[in-house]
Amino acid sequence: MDNMKKLANGIEMPRLGLGVWRVEENDAANSVRWAIDSGYHLIDTAAVYKNEKGVGEGIRQSGMKRENLFITTKLWNADQGYDSAHRAFNGSLERLGLEYVDLYLIHWPVEGKFNDSWRAMEEIYESGRAKAIGVSNFHRHHIEKLMTTAKIKPMVDQIELHPTLTQVDLRDYLEKEGIAVEAWSPLGQGKILQKPTLTEIGKKYNKSAAQVIIRWHLQSNTIVIPKSVHEKRIKENFDVFDFELNAEEMQQIDGLNINERLGANPDNFDF
Ligand code: NAD
Repeated sequence: MDNMKKLANGIEMPRLGLGVWRVEENDAANSVRWAIDSGYHLIDTAAVYKNEKGVGEGIRQSGMKRENLFITTKLWNADQGYDSAHRAFNGSLERLGLEYVDLYLIHWPVEGKFNDSWRAMEEIYESGRAKAIGVSNFHRHHIEKLMTTAKIKPMVDQIELHPTLTQVDLRDYLEKEGIAVEAWSPLGQGKILQKPTLTEIGKKYNKSAAQVIIRWHLQSNTIVIPKSVHEKRIKENFDVFDFELNAEEMQQIDGLNINERLGANPDNFDF
């Protein structure tokens, strides 16, 4: 399998990365360094995770060349709007200690504001300080509203996606629009790892349920960013390129869908 996904603007994005939500600033550097040492090139953070400094430190400690890494961060809700988005982006770059990010996302679709935020993000993109721009937690109707004023179509939509929330309609729409699908809480925050369907499939390949789920995402053409702060699990989650699920196993995992969200519905969030 090709480990990279080509975004609509031609930029190559790694299909598997490390997520760092709820990783303390002090732990972030270690997690990021372990990940990069294990073969990861994609790191997913956000201003609201309050660990961008640690992420930046981990990048520098790893010694990996900047051009070989793909760093994502996100615009927080309180910073939405044209001027504040510019300011927030500069703050993120400064905390990360980077000259550019690879992907900058609108974290949530704050009504009445996200079109203005996007205008700032288009300028950031055109300045070269974000190699790609996109959204997160956008339903189809949010993207359609964004496109009434946008010059540039988002290249990525990062959405809650795991075997118990497969979002088939939204995924079909995004694929049709050429917007790459990225899964957040891809392991269902660890709450679905005991499901017999997953552990049974894992036994066959001598893989864990986590590895089976990550493989299911990759074979579903989804970019996936599992989180862990443990070196062993960080390595385990990247050790998924030596086996392949068959069509029946893919269907069995698709069949675990119960449309159950672990996070807020983007039509109804209050933060
Ligand atoms: P996840 O689905 O990646 O699950 C992480 C949890 O699964 C860990 O805390 C651990 O308990 C368990 N786990 C991980 N690897 C394991 C292994 N090999 N064996 C056993 N257990 C294991 O959860 P997440 O952190 O919510 O999501 C991943 C990333 O997605 C985040 O870190 C963040 O970067 C991103 N995210 C984005 C949004 C958004 O609004 N855009 C929201 C939530 C998360």
